[in-house]
Amino acid sequence: MSKFDRFAFSANPEFDEAQTRVAFSKAVPLKTLVIYCYDPRAAEIPNAVARLLGNEEYPGRVIVDGSGNRVASTTTIFPVVVAGGRAIDALRSITVAQHLFGIQNIVVVHHSYCGATTFTARALLKLTNTNTRQTSLPFTTAAAFA
Ligand SMILES: [Zn+2]
Repeated sequence: MSKFDRFAFSANPEFDEAQTRVAFSKAVPLKTLVIYCYDPRAAEIPNAVARLLGNEEYPGRVIVDGSGNRVASTTTIFPVVVAGGRAIDALRSITVAQHLFGIQNIVVVHHSYCGATTFTARALLKLTNTNTRQTSLPFTTAAAFA
């Protein structure tokens, strides 16, 4: 188990996946996942999607219990921010959101003149090799960019 894995919910000996899913869906009523680019010009996209779809709440309010602990949220939109707003780069978030919250809508929004889409995989690989001490990537990683 890696250091990171020790912090995962599933590492808790009392972890019950079914109970966790129910608790998550009650604590956060997410129903729409919005994938968009991290370009600052795209920052308002989740708000725009909420207005366009209606019956959505974003960013929502954090709900605290009597002790001041943050225990829930009213947001219905789950923003996923990735370079270029590409769904393939958001697959893990899509999968987890669907599994935990039963997401009803997935919205992918691109914006004009996206700088993140000007790079090719080969150029990124070349830059990575030029700008770091690493001179080559493992074969499987390099093959994924081919
Ligand atoms: Zn962009």
